[in-house]
Amino acid sequence: MPIDPTQPYDNANIFAKILRGEIPCNRVYEDEWALAFEDINPQAEIHTLVIPKGAYVSWDDFSARANAEEIAGFVRAVGMVARDKGLVEPGYRLLANTGVHGGQEVPHLHVHLFGGQPLGPMIL
Ligand code: IMP
Repeated sequence: MPIDPTQPYDNANIFAKILRGEIPCNRVYEDEWALAFEDINPQAEIHTLVIPKGAYVSWDDFSARANAEEIAGFVRAVGMVARDKGLVEPGYRLLANTGVHGGQEVPHLHVHLFGGQPLGPMIL
């Protein structure tokens, strides 16, 4: 079920539990601002999720409320994960499903990083 983007942040969401270490994840990167782990249901050869450590529901929430340090830290972490995975050449795709029309299911901002294969044209 897509999330209701008008709801406040839910501390019981699955990514909040992963951040608190209550649920395991296959971690690939972590720093002060972000955590990256493998998607449990990969849709491509490489399918990694990068999440900010702060409590943000969505891209919209993050871009509206996060401070410049948090935004810079998170964006840098996404780029770092892609570089660490050797994806810069031949390339990769980033996706942040947002709200109901975006089909967002987990109410903690996450960027999907896809790669490791030709991804073809963007499809809905
Ligand atoms: P969304 O539709 O953008 O919200 O995508 C949520 C993503 O989280 C999906 O690709 C799920 O496969 C992934 N996911 C859900 N639970 C877990 C988990 O516990 N570990 C890793 N990935 C998860």
